[in-house]
Amino acid sequence: MISIVIPLYNEQETIPELHRRLTDAMKKVGDDYEIIFVNDNSKDNSFEVMKKFSQQDSHLKVIDLARNFGHQVAISAGIDSANGDAVILMDGDLQDPPELLPEMIAKWKSGFEVVYTMKKSRKENALKRFAFHSFYELMQRFSSIPIPMEAGNFSLMDRKVVSVLQTMQERNRYLAGMRAWIGFRQTGIWFDREARFAGKPQMTISRLINFALDGLFSFSNAPLRLATYVGFGSAFVAFLGMLYVLYAKLFTNTALIGWASTILSILFIGGMILLTLGIIGEYVGRIYDEVKQRPLYVVREKIGFEKSRERVAGSIE
Ligand code: UDP
Ligand code: MG
Repeated sequence: MISIVIPLYNEQETIPELHRRLTDAMKKVGDDYEIIFVNDNSKDNSFEVMKKFSQQDSHLKVIDLARNFGHQVAISAGIDSANGDAVILMDGDLQDPPELLPEMIAKWKSGFEVVYTMKKSRKENALKRFAFHSFYELMQRFSSIPIPMEAGNFSLMDRKVVSVLQTMQERNRYLAGMRAWIGFRQTGIWFDREARFAGKPQMTISRLINFALDGLFSFSNAPLRLATYVGFGSAFVAFLGMLYVLYAKLFTNTALIGWASTILSILFIGGMILLTLGIIGEYVGRIYDEVKQRPLYVVREKIGFEKSRERVAGSIE
């Protein structure tokens, strides 16, 4: 069986079309399947629409979260309840085309345990495209493990991979990185990312920036090392300055006037210290999030699941 996990936040216009295209794609595949819609506490009628469809379609299950947990955590909630031998993750705004599912499933059947997808093209504006691209470049350069370029959530994972993922209870989640970290036989498919079917992006710019920082800080210690390098660098510059001052004092008659240089170097060093503290703070904040050991998410209601399912670690139901 194949599980398809989809986080949804304010997508009422898209759900009927999403359901129709998913159903078409899975009919083509012919395997048994379940669709898990995770309602991330939508403010519109998304939940009612999901519920209505789940009454008509026994393949469709719904998880209703107790508040808005953000899409990475919503996906994790869906994964924890998935029963499939393979689990597919995709966005619910039809930017990830359901028509790609047969190809992904075929790759899985041919022996790959992870099939991720890479965006050949995007329909976002130039600024956003540039930001996404820079993010992947940055991850490529600084991540402690290789993470494929242009690969986001849209992917298929074998049950073996999902079991490992479920043991990774970190709070600051970057699923594309976690998936790469797990390993196994992985392969990628290129696809053209479509425009949103309806509505506005639910990931605001500030959420995207936070998400990018989560990705970077969870998979790289390079920022910490940066602080060390900057420290070495400025110590070296100070040493050169000291040599010059000694030289001027001993061998020349020039008096060193230096109000501007003093203030500038104080400002520079002060700025560097604050920057470094900020970087350390990013890690400390994340460590604090982890040690609190709160559950990742809270479920208000589950619809369409069998009652007998055992409770999954990390969730409160
Ligand atoms: N989403 C969610 N919770 C949120 C924000 C978004 O579950 O707090 C869902 C959203 O409904 C969509 C997916 O996550 O199905 C991706 O969101 P969006 O399209 O806004 O992100 P983008 O494509 O801009 O990265
Ligand atoms: Mg989107």
